[in-house]
Amino acid sequence: MRWTRMKYQPNLPLGENGEKVTASQEHITLSKNAAKEGMVLLKNDRNVLPMPEGSRIALFGKGTIDYVKGGGGSGDVTVPYIRNICQGFQALGRKVSVFPDTCAFYEAEVNRQYAEGRAPGLVAEPELPDELVTKAKAFADYAVISISRFSGEGWDRKSVYDKIEKHKGVHEDLFRLQDEIFEEGDFYLTRAEKAMVDKVTAAFDKVIVVLNIGGMIDTSWFADNDAIPSVLLAWQGGMEGGLAEAELLMGIGTPSGKLSDTLARRLEDYPSADTFFDSDDYVNYYEDIYVGYRYFETIPGAAEKVVYPFGYGLSYTTFAISRPEITERGGKINVALRVTNIGERPGKEVVQVYFSAPQGKLGKPAKQLAGYKKTRLLSPGERQIVTISFAREDMASFDDLGKIEKSAYVLEKGEYHFFAGSNVRSLKEADNVLRLSEDVVVCKLTSRMAPVELEKRMLSDGSYEALPTGTPVDTDANALEPMKQEEMEGALPATRAVSTKNRRAEKTNHVLEDVADGKITLEELISEMSDEDLCWLMGGQPNTGVANTFGYGNNEQFGIPNMMSADGPAGLRIRPEVGVCATAFPCATLIACTWDPAVAEEIGKAGGAEVMENNIGVWLTPAVNIHRTPLCGRNFEYYSEDPLLTAKQAAAMVRGIQSNRVAATVKHFALNNKETNRKNSDSRASERAIREIYLKAFEIIVRESDPWSIMTSYNIINGHRASENSDMLTGILRDEWGYEGMVTTDWWTCGENYKEVNAGNDMKMGCGWPERLKEAMDKGAMDRSAMELAAKHILNMILKID
Ligand code: BGC
Repeated sequence: MRWTRMKYQPNLPLGENGEKVTASQEHITLSKNAAKEGMVLLKNDRNVLPMPEGSRIALFGKGTIDYVKGGGGSGDVTVPYIRNICQGFQALGRKVSVFPDTCAFYEAEVNRQYAEGRAPGLVAEPELPDELVTKAKAFADYAVISISRFSGEGWDRKSVYDKIEKHKGVHEDLFRLQDEIFEEGDFYLTRAEKAMVDKVTAAFDKVIVVLNIGGMIDTSWFADNDAIPSVLLAWQGGMEGGLAEAELLMGIGTPSGKLSDTLARRLEDYPSADTFFDSDDYVNYYEDIYVGYRYFETIPGAAEKVVYPFGYGLSYTTFAISRPEITERGGKINVALRVTNIGERPGKEVVQVYFSAPQGKLGKPAKQLAGYKKTRLLSPGERQIVTISFAREDMASFDDLGKIEKSAYVLEKGEYHFFAGSNVRSLKEADNVLRLSEDVVVCKLTSRMAPVELEKRMLSDGSYEALPTGTPVDTDANALEPMKQEEMEGALPATRAVSTKNRRAEKTNHVLEDVADGKITLEELISEMSDEDLCWLMGGQPNTGVANTFGYGNNEQFGIPNMMSADGPAGLRIRPEVGVCATAFPCATLIACTWDPAVAEEIGKAGGAEVMENNIGVWLTPAVNIHRTPLCGRNFEYYSEDPLLTAKQAAAMVRGIQSNRVAATVKHFALNNKETNRKNSDSRASERAIREIYLKAFEIIVRESDPWSIMTSYNIINGHRASENSDMLTGILRDEWGYEGMVTTDWWTCGENYKEVNAGNDMKMGCGWPERLKEAMDKGAMDRSAMELAAKHILNMILKID
């Protein structure tokens, strides 16, 4: 019997001995261990860390108590408990003595502010009384300062304040609170935090800073400050993040996380920062492919802006990485090298392989990540041979203007060099070089998604080249009177009144199970469905059970179950009032910083099991947009500034999820890199940047792990809505990449339902507009065949789910 859970909502635990896996001890321990794998040790002068057993410590900063497990919005998770760093140290018992008074001080302060209505993560830093510091100094040898930050869906970091007027009503309280708290912007420390740090560093020699954050922040206050010898970038580490932090600081485990983003000295140093808030209506991606380290390692004068380079992270031990040896066979570049633990503690190292392509006519980043591998835990003196391989074609660039061959991926003639090491700045070059005497056209494609209003883009020497411009053309004028945004926003899926009119098959029809059993084909089943049946299938269905993001399918007559969906990237999201708690895993940026696909796969597997156990079939995870700007309010849900690292980690997550016969949903497709006015902001980018940076992670994930579902984004891309973008959804996703899964919109897009279906966007969530689809059909604006294709994708996905 198929879909028993989904149809009848039986509460069947999936664990051994009839136990539940949701928020089980096993999953919570996995969450903690994963957190330890992705925390990045940024600084450890004088080897202050790890603290020896028996250390006496004092904790400072509101983040001691106001721990942030993950970001807000659909990425939030309802948890049984959250452990902050204070509770984390306390859980270590006799191993460490914690000065109780600062903990009590922050606890009272934070609880007072929570009672006043401040949300976790948005608590203001209280003034630290001098006498408390004096007492702490008398008790403790070490000071541990925790800085926490919160951001969420629907708003960006820092400069949101000047937009409040324009966004009245939406998240207004959060905006107001942010404004009060982050007088100097949340990228920077507030005045109150600075004052606290100054007091603590004046009193203590051994100061350790823990950054409990979801996106990049300013590093200049500690990077060159001798008074702060140690810094752990702990990210938002999920429900057990506080314990993971405490264990690592005490040397229970060795940090092995590496940065998935470049940390620059100032916000303005990021090429995308100064125009990020230029307009609510559009964002110009002038920096083109020079995002993150591609910018900092390439553009003249940018290198010195970097404080901590891409891939960087310290350990409590030291590794030697040998010079890489390269062989090429059958179009594959194979890299081999040896990693030796030459320090005194066990630890893991991440080996990163980069290539540099000839500048040629197109211009290239100085270095590009080609592959990586994390070693096993190596004991002192132990060594591991690491091999990494990638395709020669992976080094190709997209020629959008026809300098070599228009709309083709090309390998330009010249020398390709290979490097390996522990971060983008610490590399050894291989002796062998790949020499191409002629340009090679790797793959000839078609011009798609071209910009019309982006007048220039950056080149590798830091200058700009002009791009062809024009006027955006709406190729598909609205056949229907457009719907108002307010009318669509938050509309609930209606329950269908079953009508017998307009049935194609008046006789008894088949059911979906007949397709599963091989009795008929899916096409045959769909041909039995009326136009009306299909119109209803294209939209979200009412919630059942614990779900709150609606269902897919739901046609009793055809035996199609109502398959529920649920958020989100850090764990199964169930609303608090339902009374079911789930495991909150670390945020996606931390998962990226593990540089270990196995960790992502395990989390996917565990999270997917929680999804299945709660009778949900589609998980709205993972989110793989690129960290283009530190200020994007949703960066915590995303992995990295680099598409390859993003793709490898997220593809593993997808494999883990789908091993439960639960559908993963890779989102938000694509160029959703800003939250302000997210439903109507136009992301203007060149075809090259779109393909090499913003679509690349989706492409690799589609090719490597076949996600059963993809979610389009809210935004507009070069004048066309992502959800109505046939160039992207049919031209690229299906025709070029061969994707056969299902595509859903994000929840309540401003797109027009029939245009979305025409473009290849199969489902409209949270609810569709069946009557409008029918009207579009009657007016000749949409054919039944478009709906049949969408139905095939939707039902195929349902067939794969247990
Ligand atoms: C978010 C998606 C999420 C969906 C359902 C949207 O607002 O952008 O990421 O999956 O809501 O909650």
